[in-house]
Amino acid sequence: MTQYRITLLPGDGIGPEIMAIAKQVLQVVGRQFDLSFEFTEALTGGAAIDATGEPLPPETLDKCRDSDSVLLAAIGGYKWDNLPRHLRPETGLLGLRAGLGLFANLRPAKILPQLVNASSLKKEIVEGVDIMVIRELTGGVYFGQPKGIFTTETGEKRGVNTMAYTESEIDRIGRVGFETALKRGGKLCSVDKANVLDVSQLWRDRMGELAKEYPSVELSHLYVDNAAMQLIRYPKQFDTIVTSNLFGDILSDAAAMLTGSIGMLPSASLGIAGTPGVFEPVHGSAPDIAGKDLANPLAQVLSAAMMLRYALNQPQASDRIEQAVMKVLDKGDRTGDIMAPGMNQLGCKAMGEAIIKALS
Ligand code: NAD
Repeated sequence: MTQYRITLLPGDGIGPEIMAIAKQVLQVVGRQFDLSFEFTEALTGGAAIDATGEPLPPETLDKCRDSDSVLLAAIGGYKWDNLPRHLRPETGLLGLRAGLGLFANLRPAKILPQLVNASSLKKEIVEGVDIMVIRELTGGVYFGQPKGIFTTETGEKRGVNTMAYTESEIDRIGRVGFETALKRGGKLCSVDKANVLDVSQLWRDRMGELAKEYPSVELSHLYVDNAAMQLIRYPKQFDTIVTSNLFGDILSDAAAMLTGSIGMLPSASLGIAGTPGVFEPVHGSAPDIAGKDLANPLAQVLSAAMMLRYALNQPQASDRIEQAVMKVLDKGDRTGDIMAPGMNQLGCKAMGEAIIKALS
């Protein structure tokens, strides 16, 4: 029996509800594939602030570092929105990414045939869309120095952030882009703003250099404003996209919305080989529906499937979970966020039960 130590970070809002289902799903496939999971729960986000006064207590980071992989739900909520920035739940998330060296964020945006009508775009535009957005996660304008709100000599306040990338930071995310494109459709689109930003010019130059190492990948470049337009105009042109932290933050949300429901989308954040990655749904903690048994647990369940595939090298167990999700959708089971006429509306728990049933 293969043993894995998994740290679970249920976080806030709907986090604990959807995490409970993902955990159950992992236990069931574990029995089916002879895998043993040792789960350890740890505090993060608002729940950690309430219990310890900080959004990422050192013990949480230690537990994550000491595990084979981390499954995160979501953090944040109205209650903590007005705390000073260093105490906000989001700061805990940034700390987790930095602390684990998670420099690559992989976000698939795939249109499932059962949900093609959930998109706000026309069926003929989105049908068949299958995009992987790779976002650099630990550099760029979110971390560059100097940053802060300073007072000028005239007494006026001035807010500053710095968008900076070194060649090595660009190369390591660029390589993830090329390697991922190799495993997918062989097309990589690098997104930047090289017509205005020096940091983007360096990005574009490095991508061009790296392309020489990957002759079978077709590399293209787009400015971020055009990339945003193209994602809405003709999304099927994209296979794999690689971009910086800020542009990736925005574009991956736009790509996500092509699918129509944020409640369906998993993601992976990866560091250097051999270190634990973090797998989590794309959506937030949905405080508006927390505790009401309305959350869609499928993004969390699919994040567990992604963890089995990318972190634990258990593709068959991952396939089993993804097939169970497809089976449930084929049957017509839907949570409120993806409900359509003629389908059966289920709550979060009932959707979890349907997945467990579909697994067996
Ligand atoms: P959100 O993703 O939490 O919610 C946006 C909308 O989508 C809401 O109407 C919500 O009800 C719905 N929704 C989201 N997930 C759903 C699910 N699984 N099932 C059904 N409906 C779902 O984004 P927001 O409202 O901008 O943010 C709420 C809080 O989450 C904020 O505190 C924000 O900072 C935090 N947040 C956390 C993360 C994270 O943990 N990675 C990401 C984004 C936002």
